[in-house]
Amino acid sequence: MGIDRDFIPEQATVEEKLNVIADEVLDILKELSRDSSKQLSSKSIAECLLLKDSVKNIIESPEAHRSDKDESDNAGTKADINLLRDITETIMNRFSELAPSFLGSQFAYLNDQYLNKTILDEAGTWLNSSFRIVKKYFESITSRNEELETFIVDTMRYLHETEEHVISEVNSIQETYNENKKFAQNMSTNMERISQDFDEVKDLETLKKEVMGTISNINKCIDEKSELDMQRMKDKENKLTSLGSRIKNITKEADDMKKKAEKLEQESLHDELTGANNRKAYDDKVTETIAGLKRYNVPSSLMLCDIDHFKKINDTYGHIVGDLVLKKFVALVNEKLRATDFLARYGGEEFTIILPHIPLDKAQAAAESIREHIYKSIFSYKENQILLTVSIGVSTFSKEDTAGSVFERADRALYLAKHSGRNVVKTEEEVRENSDTYIMTARK
Ligand code: GH3
Ligand code: MG
Ligand code: MG
Repeated sequence: MGIDRDFIPEQATVEEKLNVIADEVLDILKELSRDSSKQLSSKSIAECLLLKDSVKNIIESPEAHRSDKDESDNAGTKADINLLRDITETIMNRFSELAPSFLGSQFAYLNDQYLNKTILDEAGTWLNSSFRIVKKYFESITSRNEELETFIVDTMRYLHETEEHVISEVNSIQETYNENKKFAQNMSTNMERISQDFDEVKDLETLKKEVMGTISNINKCIDEKSELDMQRMKDKENKLTSLGSRIKNITKEADDMKKKAEKLEQESLHDELTGANNRKAYDDKVTETIAGLKRYNVPSSLMLCDIDHFKKINDTYGHIVGDLVLKKFVALVNEKLRATDFLARYGGEEFTIILPHIPLDKAQAAAESIREHIYKSIFSYKENQILLTVSIGVSTFSKEDTAGSVFERADRALYLAKHSGRNVVKTEEEVRENSDTYIMTARK
């Protein structure tokens, strides 16, 4: 399918090389966005990209710079600009396939900006903003569930408590200030009284009594004050401990929720038995593919694969073996797919594969290589060796297509493949050529 990333032939076209680079960028993006400790920026992506052998091969290939040779001194720069332009354009097309519809308008905006600017001047900014959007997309995947709302409510409640704590802290400072003021006033009144006692000439006994009384007042004031201070300190400590444990809970809740959200997302879009994308994920992907085609006019293709005589396998070896065969089938098909290809279990023993930006003839070749791979593989179960074949129908998305119409053409091609003896690939073109010979009826 396309060209092999590990072996890029000299005669590979610029488009094929760019597709390789775009695939590598997508892989890097997925890796980086999964690891929250890594920064997602054009610089980090460029650094990872330069480590890839496939990219090194493309950059170092003499083909890449052939057109510079005869031109003026700055021809190299010109070629670089063109190469960069082509790379960004291809990456942009890939992103538009990946991004959900709610980010579509942002992509269209970026693309307009890109088309109207000298890419060399603006490359850094442009790449940064497009990567930001892709990052936002990956973030949105993990933030789509009700638990997040609960978490936000909890966090808001916590913030509210913190706010209340701060207010009560301010009030308590005010109270402390008032108390300290009162305490100081008491003390000075008591001291004044002592000096008055000395001023007014009294007999020694009366003087002694009155001074003792005042000193005892002072002691009482000090005791009351220190008791108040102690109580206030205890209150403050309790409040801080409770706020601290709330912070811990909230942090743990956030971690748990992130894990759960990832698991939910994985489950809601994947088939439990085979791990392939499920029907819902397929429906979303078809919608995106049609939207992408309307915007960028790059053809993509669809394969519909149906395992031949699968019922016989169930009947002969039992349902559990049938399940194992389905799992193994998906693993084998995956060996033949590229990172951007999208495999989904459509239902039962039927699978769809969307090949973004791959025209019909190339999709046909890809289907042929999958068919051959399955045909040549042997499924071993205990002492049994099960031989398996698959029939595949291929169609290409057109601008006028709906999800139903492009599927129907692949389904008719599949029907023709079954009709031609199974273990065969047929395309929508062949259906048209054969329409006189076969009376085609839609199977669904
Ligand atoms: P054909 O070559 O015409 O496609 O023949 P077929 O036997 O593959 O097709 P048919 O539609 O007659 O049978 C499909 C079978 O797939 C019937 C159903 O029991 C089986 N099947 C569907 N889903 C599962 C599953 O999840 N596990 C197993 N083990 N079998 C399944
Ligand atoms: Mg079937
Ligand atoms: Mg079948």
